[in-house]
Amino acid sequence: MLTSHYYVLRLAVLIIVGAISASAQPAQPQASVPEIAFIVSMPKPHTHMLDVEVRVKRKAGVEAPPAEVLVMPVWTPGSYLLREFERHVQEFVAVDANGGALQWEKINKNSWRVATKGSRDWRATYRVYANELTVRTNQLNSDHAFWNNAALLMYLEGFLNSPSTLQILAPQPWKVATGLPPAPGPKNTFRAENFDVLYDSPVEVSSFKTLSFEVKGVTHRIVIDGEGNYEPERMRRDVQKIVEASIDLMGGEIPYKDYTFILHLRANTGGGLEHLNSTALGFRRFNFKPDTGYRSFLSLVAHEFYHLWNVKRIKPDALGPFDYTKENYTKLLWVAEGITSYYENIILRRAGLITDKEFLAGAAKSFQDLQKIPGRRVMSAEEASFDTWIKYYRQDENSVNSQVDYYDKGSIIGLLLDLEIRKFSKGAKSLDDVMRHLYNDFYKKDRNYTPADFQRVSELIAGASLADFFGKFVRGREELDYNGSLVAAGLRLDITGVTGAQKPAEKAYLGADLVQEGDRLVVSRVYAGSPAYEQGLNTGDQIVALDNRRVTKEFFDARMAEKKPGDLANLTIFRFDDLSSLPMKLGGSIEAPYRIVAVENPTAEQRQTYQSWLGVALTK
Ligand SMILES: [Zn+2]
Repeated sequence: MLTSHYYVLRLAVLIIVGAISASAQPAQPQASVPEIAFIVSMPKPHTHMLDVEVRVKRKAGVEAPPAEVLVMPVWTPGSYLLREFERHVQEFVAVDANGGALQWEKINKNSWRVATKGSRDWRATYRVYANELTVRTNQLNSDHAFWNNAALLMYLEGFLNSPSTLQILAPQPWKVATGLPPAPGPKNTFRAENFDVLYDSPVEVSSFKTLSFEVKGVTHRIVIDGEGNYEPERMRRDVQKIVEASIDLMGGEIPYKDYTFILHLRANTGGGLEHLNSTALGFRRFNFKPDTGYRSFLSLVAHEFYHLWNVKRIKPDALGPFDYTKENYTKLLWVAEGITSYYENIILRRAGLITDKEFLAGAAKSFQDLQKIPGRRVMSAEEASFDTWIKYYRQDENSVNSQVDYYDKGSIIGLLLDLEIRKFSKGAKSLDDVMRHLYNDFYKKDRNYTPADFQRVSELIAGASLADFFGKFVRGREELDYNGSLVAAGLRLDITGVTGAQKPAEKAYLGADLVQEGDRLVVSRVYAGSPAYEQGLNTGDQIVALDNRRVTKEFFDARMAEKKPGDLANLTIFRFDDLSSLPMKLGGSIEAPYRIVAVENPTAEQRQTYQSWLGVALTK
């Protein structure tokens, strides 16, 4: 329903635009498509101002409308929050081909209507303040420039399908890296076949370092801006392994002409954003050591790289072509993000960068983390996807009690679904086949998939109904059946913490997270249903004393560790400016790490499934 709603709106926009040009003269719609050329310059990098010129030109003899609208996107695909990029625009000017001023007015927060008076050749210039380095925003300073075209370049309303060129005037000695192909003409000119492609191609301009490798004759480059404690050769080798394992997983075909990893190394940055034939990555520059840090870098690489299939080509209903003026709703982010998160670990395993035991330890921890979150019983994976615009990207102290993370839960559903398919098909098929089928049957046929399509393809590959699985765990909010699926690979989840004869003792449990902020111990989170929640402790409360003794976090944790389930803890708190005392009767919990272990006497079929899933024999 939402999909059709979206297309109806797009159609309405096209009809309105069509009506404007038709009112002047019934022009051929094809012939009225203008040439759109952008020039981006940065004459004073230290001022953070990116200067944009957009030129709109039609051939002689073609009728041009009396007014045209330039629109700044309010969001960028892959990051599902309205970021209002238009707030950084200033000094908008429009002129005709002779430099004569054209009247313009803003008609809403992100649209500039220019009275072109039928001019076939006109230009607008504007400046964009760029001083925020994330993978989805823009930064220009004396060290470098990085931007997302969706956060910089306006489109001509009604012409998102138009090709365009982008010329970049880079200060010496900076170079330009982008996934866009070069265009004939001046140095650093690129072309995009439409605005979805233009907006899907971030740009780095700096004195970056480049590591390159080839896979099946296709060039991949890692463009690195910033210093860090990485080993270049190891990084090149391991990223290549990730690329090769991913391509193998998806059937061996490479769906791009070249691929660019843009990597920013800073003291405090992180995250990644996927694009068609590139990705932008941020990583803490000294986090490549020890190896646990390096592995988190490889996970990030595998995640963003796998997205080139899952979301960029295998597209959920509403995710492309995009509406850049408002939210684009889909129930499928648990697939687009969650299953990508599952595959990031599978790819590292297949590339030989983690062991099967490390893979299972990571899975067990993700199960345990999900089970700690009361919100898992309040929100389904589909609901989490749909509401990302107001929930996932707008978290607050109640989020733990009201939300589930579609990355984390989606990744777990991916793992369980993979094992369900292996179970039903007796090891003949897997989730890999589902992803390849979606690639061949949807992307290659130029169509997006719906939630019903995803279930139908999963069932087709499994050779069985998965109505129960999808009903309970994807659309529903029921507790996941870990063991029901793990058994396919001869595994079970052990939550007892019993490793030998020793059974872990039940410990006193409050149910609140505390942080030390300077000399204040503050409640950062209260879990629904916990003793803290039921007896009135609030997020934001400052705990001054425990049993009449002044506390630090260290002191508080140490005293609580001495208490037993059922004991009293007398808290003295500041709530806002008011001092009060709050007696808490403690509950009990066993805080043992979850483990995924082999079942007793696994069958040959279970052993075979484990082997084909994780690439090695099942051992104790
Ligand atoms: Zn992602």
